[in-house]
Amino acid sequence: MNLTVVKNATCTFCGCVCDDIELHANSERIVEAKAACILGKSWFLNHTAERAYPSALIDGREAELDDAIAVAAEYLDKAHLPLVYGLSNVTCEAQREAVSLAERLGGVVDSHTSL
Ligand code: SF4
Repeated sequence: MNLTVVKNATCTFCGCVCDDIELHANSERIVEAKAACILGKSWFLNHTAERAYPSALIDGREAELDDAIAVAAEYLDKAHLPLVYGLSNVTCEAQREAVSLAERLGGVVDSHTSL
């Protein structure tokens, strides 16, 4: 089986943005992530481009995205100290929007690197 090798790939999982990862991929998935830490290896090897979930859920059930956004806005509006959490594996633009949202809500921001 032929492997495609990509050198100096960037890992965006935790926010450290390591950019010296060497990826080996077959025709379906990444099979090796040299120089990645255990979190990065898990991210590269266990995620694919397949859609595993619907675009939106409300109470665990599939929903229209606009309806889910409206429900989320209600929750956030009622919250006393909303926590905007996560932010790994997202773009700088998305992080900027999340920080802006937290400021607008009077909330706080944390990433899962605090674990
Ligand atoms: S998860 Fe590991 S490899 Fe990926 S950016 Fe963070 S420290 Fe680097």
